[in-house]
Amino acid sequence: MSIKQQYQDIIHSKLQDKQLRNNLFNGMNTLKTNRKNLISKRFLDWESLRQQGKDLKSKNLGKLDELLETFEKNATKNGLKVHWASTPQEANEIVYGLMKEKGIYKVLKGKSMASEETHLNAFLKQKGLEPIETDLGELIIQLIDEPPVHIVVPAIHKNRHQIGEIFRDKLNAPLETEPEKLNEIARIHLRKEFQEFKMGLSGVNFAIANEGAIWLLENEGNGRMSTTACDIHIAFCGIEKIVESFEEASLLNALLIPSATGAPVTCYNNIISSPRKKGELDGPKEVHIILLDNHRSNMLKDPHYYTALSCIRCGTCLNHCPVYDKIGGHSYLSPYPGPIGEVISPQLFGLDKFSPMLDLCSLCGRCSEVCPVKIPLAELIRDLRSERVGQGRKNVIGVTGKTKNLSEIKAMQSFSNLATNPKQWRLMLYLSNLLSHLIKFFSPILPLLKQWVTYREFPTINGNLHKKVSQMQGVIYE
Ligand code: SF4
Repeated sequence: MSIKQQYQDIIHSKLQDKQLRNNLFNGMNTLKTNRKNLISKRFLDWESLRQQGKDLKSKNLGKLDELLETFEKNATKNGLKVHWASTPQEANEIVYGLMKEKGIYKVLKGKSMASEETHLNAFLKQKGLEPIETDLGELIIQLIDEPPVHIVVPAIHKNRHQIGEIFRDKLNAPLETEPEKLNEIARIHLRKEFQEFKMGLSGVNFAIANEGAIWLLENEGNGRMSTTACDIHIAFCGIEKIVESFEEASLLNALLIPSATGAPVTCYNNIISSPRKKGELDGPKEVHIILLDNHRSNMLKDPHYYTALSCIRCGTCLNHCPVYDKIGGHSYLSPYPGPIGEVISPQLFGLDKFSPMLDLCSLCGRCSEVCPVKIPLAELIRDLRSERVGQGRKNVIGVTGKTKNLSEIKAMQSFSNLATNPKQWRLMLYLSNLLSHLIKFFSPILPLLKQWVTYREFPTINGNLHKKVSQMQGVIYE
C-alpha cells in the first residue's frame, strides 16, 4: 500500500471516530484554556519572554558543537558517561549493550520522546527484553499497544471511562472511572515493578553544558523513581537540548511548563549531575547519557530549518492546531505529530516517507503564534512543501522530487494568469459560482466528493466577490 494511501486510510478512520474527536476536543480545550488563563494572570510580558527564549535557542544552536563538547567534558568530570549516537539504531544498541553487559532484562522508563523516535521499545522487545513505561499516559498506551497520540499527554485520546476499562481488562483491576481511583490502580501496579529494578531510562528536558548536568521535569514522581531508585540510569537526549547555564534552562522552563500544561511549574524537578556519591543513600551507581543526532546536524546546516531545533517539546502547537484536534496524533504516522511533527519528521526520518504529512496543515499560522520559542512553523511547513516538489533548497534528506505534481504546477500557473487579468477573473468567479451550486447539489451522490462533504460543507463561491473587493480597493474595473 502506498504511503499516501496509508495516510488516507488512517485519517478517514479517525474522522469517523466520534468518541476520539470528542476526547481530543475536550483535552485540547482544557490545555488551551489553562495556558491562556495562566499567561494572562501571571506574566506581565509573555511576548518579551518568548523573544528571549527564541534568541537564547538561536544563540545556542549557533555554537552547538562547542556546547556539546563542553557538556561532555563537564559531565565526564562529574562521573556521568556520555555516549554519542548518530542514528536511532546506534542509540538503541547502546541501551541493549548496557543491558547485556549487566545481565538486566527489564528497564523501567520515564517519559522520553527521543526513545519513541528510536522505537526503543520495539527494538528491546525483539531482543527478548522488557521495557516498562511508568509515566501514567505512556503506561495506558503501552497496555493497549498504541504509540503516543501527543508529545506531552500521550493518552489524551482516551477518557476516564475508557482508561477504567483498559485497567480492568489489562491489569485485572476493578472497573473504576474516578481519576483518584485510576491513579491508585496505576500506582499499585507500578510499585510492584519499582520494588525490584536495576535499570531506569528517562528523557532530558535540558542538558546544561557549564554544569555537565541534566534537568528532567515531570509531574508524577515516576521520573524520580526511574532515575534514582535504580543501579543504572540511562538518559536519552537529542543534541538540541543543550543550553549553556542553569539560568538559560530556567528561562526556557518558564516558557515550557505554562505552554505545556497551563501550570506555573512542574511538581518534580530532577537535576542529575553525578552518580551516587560515597556516603549517599540513594541514586544510581552509573548514569549514562545518550546524545542522539539522527539528522539534527543536517537540519542545523539549513538557514531556515535549523529553527525547528529550538523546540522545547511543549506540545502547545498541537493543542492549537485545527487539524490535529480532528484527527489526533496517530494519523501522522510519526512519533512526532502536529505542526512540529510535520516540520521535523520529514527531516529526521526522510521526506520521501513523510511527504503526505505536510498536507495535514491549513497554514492558518496559529501554531507559530503560540510557540513559546517563536518557531515559524507554518512557514517551515510551506517551505517543506516546496522541497517536496523539488523547488526548495534541497537540504532535506529523502528529497526525491518524485512527488512533483506537474498538473498541480500547471493549475497554479493558470490560476496565476487568471488572477492577474480582471476580466477573466470576473468571468471565472461568475462561472465558479454557478458550478459550486451545481456541485453542492450533486456532491452527496458523486463518489469523489461524497467523502469530502461527509465532514465539511461544500463552500459556495461568491460570484459578486470581485465587486466587493473592487469597492474596498477603490478600483473601478467597469
Ligand atoms: S514547536 Fe513550539 S509550540 Fe510546538 S512543541 Fe515545539 S516549542 Fe512547543
